[in-house]
Amino acid sequence: MGRLGFLFFFFSWCFLASLQFFSIVVDAKGNNLNDPSLTPINRDLYHSSEDLMEEIKALVNRHPDKLTLETVKSRNKGYQADVKVVTFCRRRQESDDKSKFRILLSFGQHGRELITSELALRILTILSEEQFLPDLDPTSLNSTLDKFIIKVVPMENSNGRELVEAGDLCERRNGRGVDLNRNWSVDWGKKEKDYDPYEENPGTAPFSEPETQIMRKLGISFDPHIWVNVHSGMEALFMPYDHKNTTPDGIASQQMKLLLKKLNHLHCDERCMIGSGGGSVGYLAHGTATDYMYDIVKVPMAFTFEIYGDEAASPKDCFKMFNPTDINTFNRVLNDWSAAFFTILKLGPHQLGEILSKASSSKSEKWVSIDEYLEGYLMERSSRYGKKKEVLELGMQEIRTYFRLFLLSSVLLMFMFCARISKGKRPIVSAIPL
Ligand SMILES: [Zn+2]
Repeated sequence: MGRLGFLFFFFSWCFLASLQFFSIVVDAKGNNLNDPSLTPINRDLYHSSEDLMEEIKALVNRHPDKLTLETVKSRNKGYQADVKVVTFCRRRQESDDKSKFRILLSFGQHGRELITSELALRILTILSEEQFLPDLDPTSLNSTLDKFIIKVVPMENSNGRELVEAGDLCERRNGRGVDLNRNWSVDWGKKEKDYDPYEENPGTAPFSEPETQIMRKLGISFDPHIWVNVHSGMEALFMPYDHKNTTPDGIASQQMKLLLKKLNHLHCDERCMIGSGGGSVGYLAHGTATDYMYDIVKVPMAFTFEIYGDEAASPKDCFKMFNPTDINTFNRVLNDWSAAFFTILKLGPHQLGEILSKASSSKSEKWVSIDEYLEGYLMERSSRYGKKKEVLELGMQEIRTYFRLFLLSSVLLMFMFCARISKGKRPIVSAIPL
């Protein structure tokens, strides 16, 4: 081969090699989106977020006597979030919201956990009596549901979910890279040794994110008796705390544990991990929604459920790790966990009644019915956490947080003067479900 021929061959090879290189699409996290070994979203099983919200809208329109839908918007520095909230409440004209037992459920706080929003749709379909659970007697369900007002957030992080549907299957954070389950004020911003900003970025301040602002507002104004933050990545039933390795003291904590044990027995085949998020999951999580709902909003029963996880999946294969990929598992997860939710409706008021009965048993030996417990409980609760005290508590909490933030930012500034932060390559995705 002549010299010219060699040069021609060499440059053609370089050209082809570069073409090959750039044809491999690599996302921001270094995941190869064309990698055939990664499981894509199963469109036969999962709705697109748009279709899912359309189905929910249609469901609400078919049942105006039970369901209402509102969209709450918030914006911060050019970033906007819309959070849809569905409210279930029967006989709306007859009684006001405050006399009912209130439950707040959030799904899809992490973008990649698609199965959780499918569960939200299933629960709403059962609440509107378009689908039925096999072991649930419709008449007893009806009398139970009359006592409740239930708010469901089917897709808390729709911006993050959009990124996942565009191919970034490992994204758990919101539309601008903040983990919505690290953006709350209880123990905000603390970082563990294995902290990974691609997973757990807490944001620039507590409640810096519009989604978290909306959820906080919802939590405080609705003042629920039960809060459940629904996630996937493992099978677990968590109670506070996430930021420390202990559960709270007292009767309320015992009642929470008791309820979780029953759910594990009835609906999780005893497979679910039970206990404090921080103590059971193997890492501490700081600035979580459930710790805030328990500590600041004073929700007496605050939980984080992890409804599915494939621990054998490769850590890069996020769709498979966080979501069932075959129809049998998909249906099994939705059936088991919607049944678990209705068990909460059945047992929750009784467990809360126990909290009050034990607390007041020293004052009176008189037997009181569950309904009376509940009413008494509701009254005591509203006087204990009246608006003024709540605002004061929140104010103090915020001042403390901002002071901590001020200190933290001063230290950071000093640090930035002294050292240049090198932008290292992203470590392998660690499978953090919570
Ligand atoms: Zn999660």
